[in-house]
Amino acid sequence: MMEEKDKYGKELDLAVRIVHMACSLCQKVQQRLVSTASEQVLAKDDDSPVTIADWGVQATVSWLLSEFLEGQNVSIVAEEDVQTLSKSDAANLLAAVVNTVNECLAEAPKYGLQCPKKALGTSKILEAISLCNSNGGPTGRHWVLDPIDGTLGFVRGDQYAVALALIEEGKLVLGVLGCPNYPMEKELLNYNHQRLQTVPTSPTPSDIWEKGCVMYAKRGSGQAWMQPLIHGDTKFEWPNSARLIQVSPVDDPSLATFCEPVEKANSNQLFTAGLANSMGIKKQPMRVHSMVKYAAIARGDAEVFIKFARSGYKEKIWDHAAGVVIVEEAGGVVTDAGGIPLDFSRGLYLEGLDRGIIACSGPTLHNKIIGAVYASWDSSNL
Ligand SMILES: [Mg+2]
Repeated sequence: MMEEKDKYGKELDLAVRIVHMACSLCQKVQQRLVSTASEQVLAKDDDSPVTIADWGVQATVSWLLSEFLEGQNVSIVAEEDVQTLSKSDAANLLAAVVNTVNECLAEAPKYGLQCPKKALGTSKILEAISLCNSNGGPTGRHWVLDPIDGTLGFVRGDQYAVALALIEEGKLVLGVLGCPNYPMEKELLNYNHQRLQTVPTSPTPSDIWEKGCVMYAKRGSGQAWMQPLIHGDTKFEWPNSARLIQVSPVDDPSLATFCEPVEKANSNQLFTAGLANSMGIKKQPMRVHSMVKYAAIARGDAEVFIKFARSGYKEKIWDHAAGVVIVEEAGGVVTDAGGIPLDFSRGLYLEGLDRGIIACSGPTLHNKIIGAVYASWDSSNL
């Protein structure tokens, strides 16, 4: 019994500490980015932005997992590769990543972890980033990392997330979601969003955000937790003011708050807007960058998140894994439009996804939304 209860306990402990560290790295980079605009933001092949923090977090997480899961063959599926960083004209960028990672790792003792005996050199950093080259799959253990989900939100000084999950034998078993700009109290979030709307010029000054939070859940525990990010010289100590979070009890669609992406690029907002309309939604949608949408549902700030991708777009596992297990353990339901749970066992992508993803605060609401999707499907132009 004991063994079953403690299963993944060590991994969860480690993953939570690592995500706290990664959030601290991001906050430092974001602060510089917003205050001096001196850090570089690059465009990837698909035109999405990537920064020092994306590579920095990936290197940090990779190094820490490998260091503290000694003896395990650590397999990591993650978003970034080293191609851009290894180019001859990227020397300054690479140097900045190396500095950022070492600055972060030097603080490991604050999080109860050991820092490297000496600062990591360039080749070690590149090695750590490249180590995250796993393709996942149905067998074995795979860590799934999105170093920064919502890089666009990140560079604008707005919402973003650090997402780390563990998959074993194709099943999600752990999820940790760091939301550095998502305050513990919803009231502060509303306050900040109102201020944001009255000051439309981006980027947002970082001082308007209260310190954010880290959420986590272990599959089958029936519990999801939230901790405040630590700051200053405070040491991370379990349970670090953890509190249980739960989805909202609202099950009437017309009273539900829908989450919407800020960017329209990868989603079919026409369909989701039409759907929300057909269900008589009265509430203003919550527009938020990144996987923070899952965080919003897990703790009851919103009830529904629907993502129907434009055709040809394939959902990647790292954009959902951590958020899904947290929402589910907090009492929510996440499936595709056919009501089938998402399949994380088939490599880098959520293969076989029926049209889109529907995350809801509970089964009753979820059933109603699925029904509405079927009803409005034929009349949509997808
Ligand atoms: Mg990313």
